[in-house]
Amino acid sequence: MKAIRVLSPNIIKIEEDPTPRVEKDDEVLIKVKAAGICGSDVSIYRGTSPVATYPRVIGHEFAGEVVETGAAVARVKVGDHVSVNPVCNCGVCKVCLIGRGNVCANLKVLGVHTDGGFREYVTVPEKNVFPVSPDMPWQLASCIEPYTVAAQVVSRGGVAAGDTVLICGSGQIALTILQVCHILGAKCIMTDIIEDRLVRAKEFGAAHVLNSKNEDTVAFVKSLTDGLGCDVAIDAACVGVSLKEAALSVRPAGTVVTMGFHDSQAQITEFTITSRELDIRGTRLNNNKFPQVIQWFEEGKLDPTRIITHHFKFTDIEAALDQLKNDPENTMKIILDF
Ligand code: MN
Repeated sequence: MKAIRVLSPNIIKIEEDPTPRVEKDDEVLIKVKAAGICGSDVSIYRGTSPVATYPRVIGHEFAGEVVETGAAVARVKVGDHVSVNPVCNCGVCKVCLIGRGNVCANLKVLGVHTDGGFREYVTVPEKNVFPVSPDMPWQLASCIEPYTVAAQVVSRGGVAAGDTVLICGSGQIALTILQVCHILGAKCIMTDIIEDRLVRAKEFGAAHVLNSKNEDTVAFVKSLTDGLGCDVAIDAACVGVSLKEAALSVRPAGTVVTMGFHDSQAQITEFTITSRELDIRGTRLNNNKFPQVIQWFEEGKLDPTRIITHHFKFTDIEAALDQLKNDPENTMKIILDF
């Protein structure tokens, strides 16, 4: 079988690997049908990921068909269509035991710490596969994972019906967060420094948009909230200054959610946090969000087709990466077809 492997930063190859077989009782062998390219795949390729190791078969957003199951597997059977949760945790560390397995002390993410889904066949633990309707197109099933990330963000933010949410940044991940906020009945203010992204955020239903390069985000948010500030602020721009804007835009007792992996400094004072008793919370991957997101997909509440802009045959991975590099503003989710 063929596998897309990053050998070391900036060197990617399609290699011929032995087709894996189920080796453990709790394993499932999946024939991969579609996979999405994520910004973190690109950062592993470029050598800027702070967590990846090499060589690595990348890909953590994927779906496929079950072709073999271990003796103890009961939740899925051969022929089932499944989406795969890339979060692998130990289940026994203190963090897992308090129910926060997405930040397990021994966390392994498929496609990051261990080989992922950009290959024709992959074995994964039964607990990581989630059946989807056989009617769901493969390209949509492969988009479940990025929406679990968005669901985790709004869950960490405690977003509720009637909330006003500031989303700093209007890239592809920000748009998925916007869509999930809408399901929950919250309205969103979105910022960016690129005008085309703001136009698209409006098309996706953002209540208000602002170019934060030209205008003051904090004053804008306050003007829309009777001077109080928004209920939740999500930093999806992750550039340091955006975290400061988020913290200053949120109301007293509000929640700020951080998503970045960068080490840029945010210049938030203790006074900003203490005087208004802010909750500043990180979010990472997803914690048991697959069932909820699959339900939203199957009920038609989430429409992932709006973020899919390109398809490539998986063997054309280099062309797909070139597309992302050369036209980032018109490229949202690229689906690799297997
Ligand atoms: Mn991703």
